[in-house]
Amino acid sequence: MTEPLALYHPTSVEAAVALLDEFGDDAKVVAGATALTIMLRQRLIAPTALISIGRLPGLDRIEVRDDVIELGALVKHRQVELDERVRAALPVLAEAFGVVANVRVRNAATVGGVLAESDYASDPPAVFLALDAEVDVQGPSGRRSIPIAEFFLAFYETAIEPNELVTGIRVPIPPAGTAAVYEKFVTRSSEDRPCIGVAAVVRLADDGTIADLRVSVGAAAETPQRFTDLEGEAIGQTPDDALLRRIADGYAERIETLDDMRGSAWYRTEMVKVWVRRAIEGAIARGRAGATPA
Ligand SMILES: Cc1cc2nc3c(=O)[nH]c(=O)nc-3n(C[C@H](O)[C@H](O)[C@H](O)COP(=O)(O)OP(=O)(O)OC[C@H]3O[C@@H](n4cnc5c(N)ncnc54)[C@H](O)[C@@H]3O)c2cc1C
Repeated sequence: MTEPLALYHPTSVEAAVALLDEFGDDAKVVAGATALTIMLRQRLIAPTALISIGRLPGLDRIEVRDDVIELGALVKHRQVELDERVRAALPVLAEAFGVVANVRVRNAATVGGVLAESDYASDPPAVFLALDAEVDVQGPSGRRSIPIAEFFLAFYETAIEPNELVTGIRVPIPPAGTAAVYEKFVTRSSEDRPCIGVAAVVRLADDGTIADLRVSVGAAAETPQRFTDLEGEAIGQTPDDALLRRIADGYAERIETLDDMRGSAWYRTEMVKVWVRRAIEGAIARGRAGATPA
């Protein structure tokens, strides 16, 4: 006989964490429920307790400071997309959330949900990775921060413990003169998840050479991919066609691309070559057009 499903509505982060600690793997957090409902319906998960976090205070806020944007775990994708302060300080962040699915999904899906779900074919993670964001989590023994580069471990697997809750994410705003873009490449409907998505962050020095370059590729492998040594090789170089091709080919060689209904591994590798180059070109063009900061 299957256990009855209990639904909890804690009203503090501490109470939610205490429930997670009590139920362990038998519990599931519910935020916007866009992914969770599908997993339940398809019987991919069978929790005995659902812990709805919609009533937790303070997690639905966006704070924009001089050097950082803080997104609470309950902030909706649509909020990030439309927030004028985010759009002014870090347009690429609003743009990446604005290309997720459709308005109906974006009105429900939360920042904490897209992080905790760790679906390889999500859009925001690649941008978070390129921007060196830090995820804030809270568990029974207190709070901790996880650098985004250490957060996504594998398919649907993150560095969060079963009794921890994502409470938010902090995204550093790059220095003035930096520009960034997110390129989402889809192979089916325009509302689909990405076949690949590339985030590029670029700052040029006064002499036109590259002073800072960050590139991350999402949806191509189990987790978003970034290679800081390849980025480092570009520093001090003129961003000509040969350099951009070298970087793009380097990413394509290193990423162990996967096969799914959105594209074969071979096709994804070819698309990495194309879209890494285009994303860097796009960030350079945006920087030259004066769209700073990123
Ligand atoms: C039709 C459709 C199209 C989509 N297209 C795209 C797309 O194009 N691009 C894209 O990036 N994404 C896409 N998505 C994915 C969507 O963005 C995610 O489903 C959503 O971000 C999950 O957020 P949520 O708040 O609904 O999470 P939920 O469904 O509530 O939860 C998802 C998972 O995260 C856990 N969880 C949620 N919040 C927390 C927290 N604070 N702490 C710990 N664990 C937590 C839950 O227990 C669950 O395991 C699509 C989804 C749908 C349904």
